[in-house]
Amino acid sequence: MNADEDMFTNEDTVANMVKLRFLDEPSILKNLERRYEEEEIYTLVGSVLVSLNPFQKLPLYGDKILDRYSQASPSSEPEQPPHIWGLAERAYRSLLCNWSDQSVIVSGESGAGKTEATRRVLEYFMEMSRRRGGEDDFAAGLEGKIMSAQTILEAFGNAKTIRNDNSSRFGKWIEVGFSRAGQIQGAVIHTYLLEKSRVVSLEPGERNYHIFYELLQCAEEDEQLQGELGLGQVASYRLLNEGSTFTRDDGVVDSDEFLHVREALAAFGFSEEDMSRIWKGLAAVLCLGNLQFEEDQVQTSTSVQDGSKITNSDTLLQAAGLLSVSTEDLQAALLFRTMVDARSEVGPPAPLASLGALAAFRRVRWLPPGCSPLGAGGAPRLCCGQGSWEVIWQESGRSFASAAAVPCAPAGLILIGCSEEFSEWRTTALIAYKLHEAKDARDALCKAVYSNLFNLLVARINERLSSAGCLGETNRTIGMLDIFGFEMLQTNSFEQLCINFCNERLHVHFNEECFRIEMEEYAAEGIAMETIEYNDNSECVAMLERRGTGVFALVDDEIRTPGGSDANLLEKMFGEHAKGAYLKRASGREGANCFRIQHFAGQVLYKVDGLMDKSRDALHADLAALLSRSENMLVRASPQFGKAEGAVAPDCRGEAELELRGAEGPERRPSKRAPQPQTLGTQFCTQLRALIQRLNATQPHFVKCLKPNMEKKGGFFVAEEILTQLRYTGIVGLCKIRQVGYPARIPQDEFRQQFQCLCPYRKGTSPGQKGRTVDDLLAALQHTEDLSPGRWLRGSTKVFMKHDQLDSLMAAVLAV
Ligand code: ATP
Ligand code: MG
Repeated sequence: MNADEDMFTNEDTVANMVKLRFLDEPSILKNLERRYEEEEIYTLVGSVLVSLNPFQKLPLYGDKILDRYSQASPSSEPEQPPHIWGLAERAYRSLLCNWSDQSVIVSGESGAGKTEATRRVLEYFMEMSRRRGGEDDFAAGLEGKIMSAQTILEAFGNAKTIRNDNSSRFGKWIEVGFSRAGQIQGAVIHTYLLEKSRVVSLEPGERNYHIFYELLQCAEEDEQLQGELGLGQVASYRLLNEGSTFTRDDGVVDSDEFLHVREALAAFGFSEEDMSRIWKGLAAVLCLGNLQFEEDQVQTSTSVQDGSKITNSDTLLQAAGLLSVSTEDLQAALLFRTMVDARSEVGPPAPLASLGALAAFRRVRWLPPGCSPLGAGGAPRLCCGQGSWEVIWQESGRSFASAAAVPCAPAGLILIGCSEEFSEWRTTALIAYKLHEAKDARDALCKAVYSNLFNLLVARINERLSSAGCLGETNRTIGMLDIFGFEMLQTNSFEQLCINFCNERLHVHFNEECFRIEMEEYAAEGIAMETIEYNDNSECVAMLERRGTGVFALVDDEIRTPGGSDANLLEKMFGEHAKGAYLKRASGREGANCFRIQHFAGQVLYKVDGLMDKSRDALHADLAALLSRSENMLVRASPQFGKAEGAVAPDCRGEAELELRGAEGPERRPSKRAPQPQTLGTQFCTQLRALIQRLNATQPHFVKCLKPNMEKKGGFFVAEEILTQLRYTGIVGLCKIRQVGYPARIPQDEFRQQFQCLCPYRKGTSPGQKGRTVDDLLAALQHTEDLSPGRWLRGSTKVFMKHDQLDSLMAAVLAV
């Protein structure tokens, strides 16, 4: 017998845990542990697939096994051992048979196997598509592209962490479109919350994003690349050496991977020139990271200030070259910020005055930086990007732009207020950054360049994967969600708040679905259940996301409040929510700057410090302006992608047009605030809402990935670790929903065989009634009071019981 055949047989365990007599934590654990010992990593709880990371290659994914699942008929399916491909087949079949959208929702903690599971599901769909497609070049091309997209995303979005050598540092939702014939027609990828902080700081034992090491290793051997980028040794870069870890332990060779990335980029239409721009952007980030600063007295046109200076000018020169900006511009943006002097009030500068007031023009447009400055006809535009303003106009065929907010320009004039309020003018001044501020500016720039590059890649991938209108009306989709699990770290901040909020919200969805499935089972058995009460966490979700008073709204509110502070935010939160059950003051010992949230998966302590800054995520206007002037189109163009991609924030995306009054001059209207850039918190809430809406329109298939040990060791099952994860992946909750009703479900035949011994010999019931029906037996057991009222129900094929009822019947059997 080969490995394919014998891997699934184990008498002692159940493949579907609903068959466990006691669906409690110890029974679940025991069952999972025994199966893990037998190398059976997949187990079902109803239709939910539990997957244990084997941390070793198991013979689970050969062609023969794939055939077994793809050829299984729906009726033989329950006999098939649980498998990720079994779940993929259910989703695929359901899509084709019901012609409806499906989703595969994979969850679990870092290193539990989510990405691996998603990859297997995708692999299955691609194989099915291939089998149905014959020689279809279009579909074949798409399949290759989907694989290439994975390669690119992994290189730029994955990193080695303590918990996983190939950890995805962003969430993703891949939606694949299918034709009626079951062929893949295209795909779209949404990404969530790339971990930007990794670009500039590493924990010991961790690496930065794979692509940096891949690029450096390849540049060592590629003279041309080395010549273009002038890169040094990995260990010479601060952004790479902080974690003191340079290699991967999972056998993947960085330089080989780089070649795959190149091929993948080429598959998405990136030319050699484009790629060279990407490498330059990456090299620029590394170079910027090495910039060193020192305190210094700084002379501006108006004053002498305590500021800082850059001590390694060679690196500055190199960074500016790689970023394709002028060295002076880069230096100025890192050392100064432009501030509007609120006291001054002067008239408009000559060129603008000569336009005879902007109000003569009917339309003024607000554009984010990086947009082409002049529209059709050369109409003047008011450009507003992240708080900076620029007026662009044309005169006698020539273009002019106001110098406002240009950091290297001497203090100049700036237009203030909304577009209806042109009469006000202010002067600007340069403020020198203190040492720590200059370092922050450097890090902010690194993060912005990197994350913009990532967003740009995602945007290009989507453009090419969905160009055929693959997700149109005529197709149906299967979405796959591979998203970060619940996090409870030593210090929890904005990132954890978002991640845990996301898990909290997905948990509501999971609960609702499990509840629905449970109710459907009763209905299928002809039992009218009124309602089942279960632990519902939707109130916690509401506390976080409610408009106006939810935690995220309060963060936004404090950001908008002049003089807003972390301490005020904390008080606002307590004022609004401390009376409820989900948000509490931390104890004095934990720190006055902390709050606790009672999540479904446990209590988490969050630090308020920096919460607003992280949500604001604002790249200072001067730095944004610097990037918008880069001659590297990928660096320059990327801020737009940054805002547009995935952000799902239509109200702040792209251009907002303001209608001006006619030539007679601007009508005085109540002063309107300029649109604020959306905070990261709001963007994420919006994204999540859109995701849930999408999920609600699909038939879900859940995969719960569990990590049996933290050492990433094969064959090693730590029960306590699994138990924690069983709780926060919702498996325990799922079992509870089942237990609240009538969890023991015994097929009628089995029930008769097991319990008719109670009637013939007890309390004088006559023997020889073997042939009687289950109804007779149930009536007799009621008569003898072995069955208590309200503790059991008769379905059309099963007898449903509470556990205590089953226990007492079993005890009675033993006593016979
Ligand atoms: P993260 O949240 O950090 O991205 P993850 O849940 O996506 O983690 P994966 O990257 O999928 O975790 O898995 C971690 C590692 O575990 C893989 O690189 C692989 O070595 C191993 N692994 C996961 N699933 C399997 C499997 N089914 N068979 C063999 N090895 C596996
Ligand atoms: Mg992953």
